[in-house]
Amino acid sequence: MAQRVAIWLLNDLRLHDHPALHAALRERPSQIDFVFVWGAPLTEWGKLSYPPDFPRVSSRMGRARERFLLEALLDLAERVPLTILQGEPQEVLPVWAVQKGISAIYTHAEWAVEETAYQQQVAQALAQSGIRLFLQEGNALYEKAQLPFPVESLPLLFTRFRQLVERTIQVKAPLPEPALPYSTPIEETLQWLRKKLSQLPQTHEHSFPFRGGERPGQSWVRQYFEKAIFTYKETRNSFYGKTFSSHFSPWLAMGCLSPRWIYAELRRAEKEHGANESTYWLFFELLWREYFRWLGARWGWKLFAQGGLRDIRLPWRRDEKLFLAWVRGETGYPIVDAAMRELGTTGWTSNRARQIVASFFSKNLFLDWRWGAAYFETQLIDYDVYSNWGNWLYQAGVGTDGRGFRWFDPVRQAKLYDTDGTFIRMWVPELRSLTPPRLYMPEPSMRSSLGYPLPIVDWQSSLTYAKDTYWRAIKGEPKGNQLLKLFQEEEN
Ligand SMILES: Cc1cc2nc3c(=O)[nH]c(=O)nc-3n(C[C@H](O)[C@H](O)[C@H](O)COP(=O)(O)OP(=O)(O)OC[C@H]3O[C@@H](n4cnc5c(N)ncnc54)[C@H](O)[C@@H]3O)c2cc1C
Repeated sequence: MAQRVAIWLLNDLRLHDHPALHAALRERPSQIDFVFVWGAPLTEWGKLSYPPDFPRVSSRMGRARERFLLEALLDLAERVPLTILQGEPQEVLPVWAVQKGISAIYTHAEWAVEETAYQQQVAQALAQSGIRLFLQEGNALYEKAQLPFPVESLPLLFTRFRQLVERTIQVKAPLPEPALPYSTPIEETLQWLRKKLSQLPQTHEHSFPFRGGERPGQSWVRQYFEKAIFTYKETRNSFYGKTFSSHFSPWLAMGCLSPRWIYAELRRAEKEHGANESTYWLFFELLWREYFRWLGARWGWKLFAQGGLRDIRLPWRRDEKLFLAWVRGETGYPIVDAAMRELGTTGWTSNRARQIVASFFSKNLFLDWRWGAAYFETQLIDYDVYSNWGNWLYQAGVGTDGRGFRWFDPVRQAKLYDTDGTFIRMWVPELRSLTPPRLYMPEPSMRSSLGYPLPIVDWQSSLTYAKDTYWRAIKGEPKGNQLLKLFQEEEN
C-alpha cells in the first residue's frame, strides 16, 4: 500500500523550493499531509526552551508577527491539506501522526539550540511509534556540502566568508513547486485561521503594508524587481516607505520565500534590465543572512552567551528602568524613540534604525545586550534566530565585528538619513511642531512644555565609559585566547 507521509512545517511556509516536500514525494505517497504546531515554543517559551532572563513586556510572539504568520498559514491552507495542532510539538505531533496512519514526517533542519532540542525530542517521540522524522537542509542560499570549508572552520569575519563563497560556489537553482497527489484544503483549518485573524486588532498604516504568505511574497518580489531594486544601494539606509529596501525579511524569516528563489529572480531581473551596484548589493545583504545562519551552526549556544563568541567579560547593567524607557521610546533621543515606537507598534523597523537602537542600548545604556535581543525576538515581524542574535552580538561588540567597538551617533544618523525629520515626526508626535536641526535633539529647556523627556543618559560620557570598559576587558583577555588569534589571523 502506498504510504501516507507528512510535512511538519516550521520556517518553510511555501511550496516552491521546498527540499523536504521533494524528499517526501520520492516515497511516492498516496497523500501528503501538512501540519503546523501552534503553541510553545512559538507563541510562548516551552518546556525545552531556555527562557531568556529579561524583563517580560509581552508574550513571545508580538501581535504583528502573529498576524503575518496567520496570513502565511492561510495562504497555504487554501491550497493544501493543512492541519493545525495546538500544544508542544513533541507531545501533539506523535499522537496526530499515529491517528492518521502517517509513516514518516519530513521537515527542515534547524541549527539553533532550542530548535535542535525540539527536533530531537520530536524524533524520539515519533520513533516510539515507529514513525521516522527526516530532516532536510533548506531555507538557505547554499547547502552545507557546497561550502568551501567545514562549518567548524567558518571564517569569523563576514568579508572572508563572502569572498570565499563568492569565489568558489554557485547558488543552486530553486526546486520547482511540485504537483501534489492530493490537495483538498481542510475546512476546519481555514475557519480556525480566519477566526483568529478576525480577532486581531487592525494593523497600523506603516512602512510594512504587506500580507504574509508565499503568493503575496512572490508577487512583491516581482514588483520590487521591476524598478525599485535598481536604486536599492542609494535608498537602503532610509527609515520609512515601501520601497527604500526590499522588505523581503518577514517572508524569508517564515520561509514564505526561499532565498534561492529570490536569487534566481534577481538574476532574471538583471538579465532583463541590466545589473548594477544595487542589484549586487541585494545579493550582498542576502549573504549577511547566510553568514549568520552558518555562524549559528558553528557556534551553537554561544550565540546567546553574555560574553558572546569570545567570552568577553563586561559589567553589563541590568537596570529595568532604563530598559523600559528604551522599550517605550522614552529615552529623550528622538531618532531612538521614533524607531522603538515604530517597532513596538508595527513589529518592523529599518536596518539603519535597528543598528542605531542596538548601539544605543549596548554602548550608551550599557545594558545586557541579551535583554535587547530578547525584546527584539518578541517584537520583530521578521524575527529570525540567527539574524537577530547574530546582529545583536555584532552590535554589542561580542560577536564577529573585526572593529570590536562600533557605535552610532543618533543625532548625526538622524541628520544623515531623516533629512527632513519626517520619520521622527511620524512616531514622536510631541515633537511635531519642531523642524530640523532642533528636532534631532531639542534643547533641555523646551522639553517639559513639549511633554518630551530629558535624555536618560549623557551620550558622550556614557559612550566614553563603554569604550574604556570595553577596551580594558579586551586587554585583559587571557593570553592564548584562541578566538582572538583567529581574528588576528583572518585580518592579516
Ligand atoms: C540588532 C539587529 C537585529 C536584527 N534582527 C533581524 C531578524 O531577526 N531577522 C532578520 O531577517 N533580520 C534582522 N536584522 C537584519 C536587518 O535589519 C533586516 O534583515 C532588514 O532590515 C530587513 O529589511 P529588508 O528586507 O528590507 O532588507 P534589505 O536591506 O532589503 O536586505 C535584503 C535581505 O537581506 C537580508 N539582510 C539584510 N541585512 C541583513 C543583516 N544585517 N543581517 C542578516 N540579514 C540581512 C535580509 O534577509 C533582508 O530581507 C537585524 C539587524 C539588527 C541590526
